[in-house]
Amino acid sequence: MIRHAKIEFNESGTPVAQDFDDVYFSNDNGLLESDYVFFQQNNIASRWQHHPRRHFVIAETGFGTGLNFLNTWQRFNQDSDKSVEQLHFISFEKFPLEQSALQQALAAWPELTSLSEQLVASYPNAIAGCHRLEFDQGRVILDLWFGDIQDTLPQLCYGENGIVDAWYLDGFAPSKNPDMWQQSLFDGMANLGRSDCTFATFTAAGFVRRGLADAGFSVKKVKGYGRKREMVVGTLEKANQSSTQPAYFERSTQSLEKVAIIGGGIATATLAYSFAKRGIACDIFCKDDALAKGASHNHQGAVYPNLQADFNAISEFFAHSFYYAKRVYQQIYDDGYHYPHDWCGVLLHGISDSKVEIQQRLIEKNAWPSSLIRGVSAQQANDIAGFEANFSGLFISEAGWVKPPALVNAIFAASNSNTSHNTVFNTEISEIIKTQNGYQLIDSNNQDVGEFSQVFITCGELTTRFSQTQVLPFSPVRGQVTRVKTNDLSQKLKTVLCHKGYFTPQLDNTHCMGATFEKRSMSREISSSDNLINLNQLRSFYPEQLGITEESILDAKAAIRCTTPDHQPIVGEVPDEDTLLTNFAPLRNGKHYDFETHPNPNNGLFVFSGLGARGLCTAPLAAEMLVAALCGEPLPVPTHISEMLHPNRFIVRDLKRNKI
Ligand code: SAM
Repeated sequence: MIRHAKIEFNESGTPVAQDFDDVYFSNDNGLLESDYVFFQQNNIASRWQHHPRRHFVIAETGFGTGLNFLNTWQRFNQDSDKSVEQLHFISFEKFPLEQSALQQALAAWPELTSLSEQLVASYPNAIAGCHRLEFDQGRVILDLWFGDIQDTLPQLCYGENGIVDAWYLDGFAPSKNPDMWQQSLFDGMANLGRSDCTFATFTAAGFVRRGLADAGFSVKKVKGYGRKREMVVGTLEKANQSSTQPAYFERSTQSLEKVAIIGGGIATATLAYSFAKRGIACDIFCKDDALAKGASHNHQGAVYPNLQADFNAISEFFAHSFYYAKRVYQQIYDDGYHYPHDWCGVLLHGISDSKVEIQQRLIEKNAWPSSLIRGVSAQQANDIAGFEANFSGLFISEAGWVKPPALVNAIFAASNSNTSHNTVFNTEISEIIKTQNGYQLIDSNNQDVGEFSQVFITCGELTTRFSQTQVLPFSPVRGQVTRVKTNDLSQKLKTVLCHKGYFTPQLDNTHCMGATFEKRSMSREISSSDNLINLNQLRSFYPEQLGITEESILDAKAAIRCTTPDHQPIVGEVPDEDTLLTNFAPLRNGKHYDFETHPNPNNGLFVFSGLGARGLCTAPLAAEMLVAALCGEPLPVPTHISEMLHPNRFIVRDLKRNKI
């Protein structure tokens, strides 16, 4: 669990951390100090003019009040000479300020108000891991890593060229916080550094200088800010060729020349959105006459994270996916692309002894802040739901429902406002043929629809139709959602209800009730017996309270969810099984093996599928991860989540077990 900082304000109005007995920034003028020590001494303004990449990455040890970030963002906005298009700011924080304290601390800087208001508004909940916040249509990205930097820094994904252009080595004075200023931190800074990466720090302490020099930086003293005599700056001449990614889980940078996406649902939309933010236009092939006609077609869909009692990789992925999805969906809405939705909360009813036990464990483990998920008594649950079910449960107050087809269309419209994608409807891609420069796409009328440098398969259960995707263990699960009319009782429902299935509060005088779960079925026919299954299930938990009967049934939609054996999406380059088996054969013996001479082959064919029934929650973050990796940017997830979603994981697991 992340603990908030305990702070007070001294007589100069400067925030002070009680645990460290140190100020967050100088009493004299924290903003000018920030600008001098970190921005100017890293020579950022002139580097922005001739930077070789479209994005510039700054990483900071200790986010604190965010003053360094805000100053850098302000400088970025004011700079009209820069060639850099995207400012990427990574910051690590073990004890985040509470939102109210952040607001109070930043009130001291009226010149930053327009930016600090945006930061305070999107400031994340205290959950460990990476929170990706985006500002100015994605031109400014802030990755806030909550947790001890000794734990979080090694979790960043980077390859041999590194990812960071400049380090702001902040933090409380080394004498007040010796735990942070360790050789492992200096080594980590060098590992993440690109060639010519710089650092600047306010301290000139000898062990810091020596530690940074030992890590590979050239180190020199320069004049400190104001009355301070000295501070220290330095440069890493060459990236030190280390990597957190084993070759078989690598995500490589690629030159994106002509990108095609096959699909038309939430995966396609979110992928197109992440590309559009970076100015990359795509050709999108959709087999239907409109978007969201597959599994994204329901009238209402719940958006909530699937949290377990422990903070493990799966829960971490869900929690961060949920918050990222909400931020993206809200941004799109605020930009004027509207869709019906309500963040009315999701109530998970404890409908059986075993469910109650699982829920109780989650409450006792206390791994999550109560603002994300909290236990509720039967009475509290009744008050939240607006009717008497008399089940205790868990409540996720920030969750809710959206109308998926409207959302998918809104995301597309928002993408097209940044970059014009070329969306081609009624075109079913049936074959993907490898060419010298990429792939040729053939439609179901045997027409060649073009050649592309990269192709992304994001078409749900149809992902497996291509010869190249046969290697991936997707399986279809049919689900039918029944729509029912409202009545006086059901209209009182105030939140999404999850029992064994789910039931949504009304939209246009109807509710959604679902869903059935039929393995290996590919049928999209509506079945009246499935409607009865949904009805009987609902009535088994709420026999009369919602007033739903057979007469309430209006219509239904059936779709095929695309699932995977470990219930996680598959996101990345489609493996070439034979090459993997040859290149990584030594894994069979469980040996550590240097795979430098056998890199993972890049083929430019990608899959983003297997989202199951959770795509509304997980698609935006997974899409962002995929696109960030291709663009050589820092990933919004730690290495263990990147690996958890990697398409090679099934082959690698079998190799390690010597099963193939
Ligand atoms: N850069 C900040 C700003 O602009 O307001 C000020 C940073 S303040 C001097 C130092 C920060 O480092 C504090 O917010 C503190 O909680 C954080 N910190 C201390 N130890 C840490 C650790 N082991 N890992 C991550 N952050 C840590």
